[in-house]
Amino acid sequence: MGETYNLIIVGAGMAGLCAAAEAAAQGAAVLVLEKEADFGGSSLLSGRYMAFAGTDLQHQEGINDESRFLVDDMLAVGEGKNETELVEAYGKRQLETYEWLVSKGVEFHKVQAVSGHSVPRGHTITPQQAITALYRAAAESGTVSFKTGASVKRLRKDEDGRVSQVIFEHAGKTETATAENGVLLTSGGFSRSEDLLQNFAPHLSGAIRIGGKGNVGDGIKLASEQGAWLRDFPYLKGTYGFHPSADGPRKSQALAFYKGAIIINKFAERFVNESISYKLIGSEALLQPEGITYQVWDQSIMDQGVPGDALYDFDKLLALGLIEKADTLEGLAEIMGVPAGSLKSTINEYNRDIQNGGDQKFGRSTLTHHFGTPAPIGNSPFYTMRTTVAMLATYAGVSVDPSAQVLNAFNEPIEGLYAAGEIAGGFHGAGYMTGSSLGKAAIFGRIAVQAALQKQTVL
Ligand SMILES: Cc1cc2nc3c(=O)[nH]c(=O)nc-3n(C[C@H](O)[C@H](O)[C@H](O)COP(=O)(O)OP(=O)(O)OC[C@H]3O[C@@H](n4cnc5c(N)ncnc54)[C@H](O)[C@@H]3O)c2cc1C
Repeated sequence: MGETYNLIIVGAGMAGLCAAAEAAAQGAAVLVLEKEADFGGSSLLSGRYMAFAGTDLQHQEGINDESRFLVDDMLAVGEGKNETELVEAYGKRQLETYEWLVSKGVEFHKVQAVSGHSVPRGHTITPQQAITALYRAAAESGTVSFKTGASVKRLRKDEDGRVSQVIFEHAGKTETATAENGVLLTSGGFSRSEDLLQNFAPHLSGAIRIGGKGNVGDGIKLASEQGAWLRDFPYLKGTYGFHPSADGPRKSQALAFYKGAIIINKFAERFVNESISYKLIGSEALLQPEGITYQVWDQSIMDQGVPGDALYDFDKLLALGLIEKADTLEGLAEIMGVPAGSLKSTINEYNRDIQNGGDQKFGRSTLTHHFGTPAPIGNSPFYTMRTTVAMLATYAGVSVDPSAQVLNAFNEPIEGLYAAGEIAGGFHGAGYMTGSSLGKAAIFGRIAVQAALQKQTVL
């Protein structure tokens, strides 16, 4: 029934388009189905960091790094709950994938220190540029067909028990297509699904929802019907650093805390070590009274803003009125509606501690993870942003092996079914390391295609 391909790819974000470009290079006949009118999903909205080690960009900046350091950091951030084989597969294929992305026209701009890494390792892309380059690389072969507005509804097995049929809705009709080598789910996570979030992460009901419009967990349901096991759901976390209006048209985010800002609650009290992962900060922030928290910083930190950067463009947020400013701490406290005495004593105590060798309260000794040195906050004017937690991406999903083949509850492969990108669980364990989600989308998108086309494991 319907047309037959070597491979059918469900979802066209970073994982799906890397898979499509890889399959194109191998001359495979591929159908890519994307539910939305445009490609890109959450990948297009991303903070644009990709985690790679040992790259030319790092060498140019004198950063000494290797795959094994990245793997160690990832296992540490995941608190050892990650599937080691998956993290090692990332380590094995990461540098080659970085170079492959460059060869496909993806532009990397610079390397930044980002959370969870022992050295600067956040390789920045421009998401729209990357998505367009990958689409072109896939499309130019002539063997890959794309359908947008095509929402996959169900998968079916053939008589040998192999997943091979895809049922989708397109232009008001229900269609079926067959895949000889397999079906690859690259349909992203479920950060936009109230249904799944309420079932799997009720503790995140206070977080605002951001993420690709189509990211409602379709792939997880499709794979579950075929017997997929699920991983990492107990570790779902939100991301700290967004203005409460960020679920609207503007995704306003400022990580001033990684430049040295402190984070306080409505009583002007600190409650966390600001240098830890923004995921872990998010969990603490949701526990604060009424979920109200603010970042507070001074002019020295403000001067470290990076114009045009999604995370550090402080001047833009100031101009929009989302960051507020006052000449004195009393003035700032009035704007925020927090007790001025408490704000002053919190900042005095913090300044005294870090000048005397370390934050006594929460152990802050760096700016982000192991990197940078905090400075006292005292150079007027002072700044604040009301900050909240967002559900951006769901780092939990279907169980996979290092060849991206989906596994059942008995750790056995489900023939013909592959999953890569945010839909896959088991990789991040208890914590997400910045840049590893776009990274894993690219790495495992390619691995899945190689495995499916060879009909065997590739790692
Ligand atoms: C604001 C924000 C900032 C982020 N910053 C970073 C960062 O800096 N670094 C990092 O590593 N990660 C970051 N992430 C996470 C990262 O962007 C995602 O995890 C990653 O892009 C997921 O890629 P993907 O290809 O798996 O899914 P997506 O890019 O989400 O693509 C999935 C696609 O599948 C489509 N789809 C869904 N269901 C169906 C269906 N039934 N039929 C057909 N198509 C379907 C969707 O419409 C979508 O286009 C961020 C996420 C957000 C939202």
